[in-house]
Amino acid sequence: MNLNSISNSELLSRTENLVHQEREILTSVLHHLQEVNRRRLFSYYGFKSLFDFAVLKLGYSNDAAYRRIAAMKLMSEIPEVESKINSGEITLTHLSMAQTLFRQEKIEKLKGYLPYKHPGNTIGELFVKLCDLGLSEWDPSKPLKKKSAKFGAPQKTKSDVVAGSSNAADPLEKQSKITTPARRFVFRRANNSCENCQSTFALEVDHIIPKSKGGSSNTENLRLLCKSCNQRAAIAKIGIKTMEKYIT
Ligand SMILES: [Zn+2]
Repeated sequence: MNLNSISNSELLSRTENLVHQEREILTSVLHHLQEVNRRRLFSYYGFKSLFDFAVLKLGYSNDAAYRRIAAMKLMSEIPEVESKINSGEITLTHLSMAQTLFRQEKIEKLKGYLPYKHPGNTIGELFVKLCDLGLSEWDPSKPLKKKSAKFGAPQKTKSDVVAGSSNAADPLEKQSKITTPARRFVFRRANNSCENCQSTFALEVDHIIPKSKGGSSNTENLRLLCKSCNQRAAIAKIGIKTMEKYIT
């Protein structure tokens, strides 16, 4: 491209035009990322997250992917953001800074919740405490604590000791529920990671043949998927329109 011969005014007007188009393309990219996310398409390709998809499939740097996804999230929460990007009033850097500030506010609030015996925690110490708490409280392959029983966890019986065993005494009702031992067995069998993308984030036990089509809750019909892969599988089975209300 040789721009040597064009006039100053032509050069300026072309530059302004291109920058305007660049901003429009940016918001269009953000809308497309939003739709890829809504359809959970990244998990279709075996990626753990939209971020991994943006880096490994689309070729963005980590930083560029992070800024676009942060902007995409803000754009869906605050629709006015789109016109501000188009007019050049805010940039991707502003948007990711805004996201960081929101997070910072949350962290300060969390630090305020800590008991007096842990004053002046640094972010690192706070993070370690949260990790310890999460690992001890939320490991799904560990036995449930007693108090969970009131939320409908099946009582331990002899038949439950064998993972995934059905209960002949009450076949229809019991077979449709995933028993606690079966659930733990599925987590252990999958090594606590998604069977599609190996993510360890937001894992859920899924029926391979849906319950609505007569699929049982025995372990042979169960698999462990992360939330995104599970939603992607559900979209493929029952369509995005039906799934829309469950996708956040
Ligand atoms: Zn997955």
